[in-house]
Amino acid sequence: VFDVSPPWLNRVLERKPRLLLHAVDGVSFSIERGKTLALVGESGCGKSTVARLLVGLYEPTRGGMHFDGQDAHAAFKSAGGRKLRRRIQMIFQDPYASLNPRWLVQDIVGEPLREHEILKEGPALKTRVGELLQSVGLSPLDMAKYPHQFSGGQRQRISIARALATQPEFLVCDEPTSALDVSVQAQVLNIMKDLQRERGLTYLFISHNLAVVRHVADQVGVMYLGRLVEVADKAKLFVSPQHPYTRMLLAAIPKMKHAGEARTPVQGEVPNPLDPPTGCTFHPRCPHANARCVAERPPLQMLRGIQVACHAVEEGRI
Ligand code: SF4
Ligand code: MG
Repeated sequence: VFDVSPPWLNRVLERKPRLLLHAVDGVSFSIERGKTLALVGESGCGKSTVARLLVGLYEPTRGGMHFDGQDAHAAFKSAGGRKLRRRIQMIFQDPYASLNPRWLVQDIVGEPLREHEILKEGPALKTRVGELLQSVGLSPLDMAKYPHQFSGGQRQRISIARALATQPEFLVCDEPTSALDVSVQAQVLNIMKDLQRERGLTYLFISHNLAVVRHVADQVGVMYLGRLVEVADKAKLFVSPQHPYTRMLLAAIPKMKHAGEARTPVQGEVPNPLDPPTGCTFHPRCPHANARCVAERPPLQMLRGIQVACHAVEEGRI
């Protein structure tokens, strides 16, 4: 079980200390081993911040993360931190930016093996790199090529092979298919699902795309302006979304089965996180907002069998 809770204060703007930015605030969830929790939301909602917290690239100002029963942020800093880093790996959005263009694939995929002193340079390392490439549907012969010799989808497979090198248990995937064509996205997502089944991997999967989330998630957390507004099993969330923001996101996805059916585009813009709205931060965009919504921030609570932060749901108005 992983648990990430309260805020990470991004930075204090010195001249305007009032404008303290909580990139992520009061975000708390757990992920069951072998399952996928997807975090969805528009850009700037804090999803990537959560990802970076989970792999130890950022430190929380408050709260923390428990990985397999241990305090991960304390462990990251301790002598045993490297061991934990092996077990938690990250896949980034942009395979173009995250692969060193001057390195051969064998050096890219082999790097974590050398870095974590799992294998030294030599035939055993090459064999292992070949196996890793095969596990993502590439050929061992591809190790002698450079990243530019591959398509976008193949490059993301190389990133996945690299992430798997240390035999991690938990993969934090930040928009892993967002830079890819739709047809290629499905291939990469299927590889990730196969790997999860074979290896019992646990995923935190970040996406702004609910169609992708529907394909991969067991549970879904919807984020808005650095907070979770709804957490539910995938089946529940897609069938009966509760939070008005989740409803808005769902209404905006084209329905494959009913081609041509009108979809409702997402209304309004994400407010400036430096100057968030009062009360429920979604109120300027919400069709159900009332005076209480403007004044009072709704807590994330169990309502109708899911976790949701909305006064209208609590009051049974929607
Ligand atoms: Fe809308 Fe109010 Fe619910 Fe916020 S609390 S989502 S403003 S109804
Ligand atoms: Mg992001």
